[in-house]
Amino acid sequence: MRILIFGPNGSGKGTQSAFLAKQFQLAHVESGGIFRKNIKGGTALGEEALKYINKGELVPDSITIPMVLDRLAEADCQAGFILDGFPRTEDQATALLKGLATALTPLSVVVVINLPREVASSRLMGRHICPNGHSNNLAIAQIAPIQNGDSFNCWSCGAGTTVRGDDVDVEAINLRLDIYFKETMAALTVVENWAKAESVKVVHVDGVGDISDIRNILLSQVAP
Ligand code: AMP
Repeated sequence: MRILIFGPNGSGKGTQSAFLAKQFQLAHVESGGIFRKNIKGGTALGEEALKYINKGELVPDSITIPMVLDRLAEADCQAGFILDGFPRTEDQATALLKGLATALTPLSVVVVINLPREVASSRLMGRHICPNGHSNNLAIAQIAPIQNGDSFNCWSCGAGTTVRGDDVDVEAINLRLDIYFKETMAALTVVENWAKAESVKVVHVDGVGDISDIRNILLSQVAP
């Protein structure tokens, strides 16, 4: 199964993608995660990407498109993948659909998590990172980290949480949301037009609801 997932930052896209990847044994390909891994590893790609990421800007297509297409050609993606965070521009969408058609590996289903901008904004500002990968968010009671003086601990495992550098700058957050609601929505239109022509299912789900309800909707709608 090859799944493409859209949703603004803060929509729970990463959480639901990780769940679907585990459930259907798919490679979870997250463009933002590939950049963060390169930044942590001190690679030239990471150094270049950081210039854009901290400002909330998109990393240029000339870097991002080959990086993601190369990742999708790796062995673990052959049994299926869920692609999270890409495409974010019309050119990325066109390159992705072309690349997958050439490899004879078209998408099986497209998922869109819808979320009003104000909700996305407060969730981005409330997001905390757990070193053990649990989702934490001050704006979502179910997964709110526990305050301990000036610091916070993961609601699930108790580990100390941190905040992503690009989640603390309000200007960068606004820019990321501007980009999603303009450029990424244009990319989604390209994908939806393709899906209509190819009779590929597009599942829209409301991201405001309970995490487990959304998970169950996705499970029932995405399953082959
Ligand atoms: P994310 O973790 O998906 O919020 O991505 C973090 C940052 O990585 C974004 O704000 C962008 O700067 C960069 N990024 C991730 N995916 C893409 C993409 N498809 N195109 C360009 N930049 C991206």
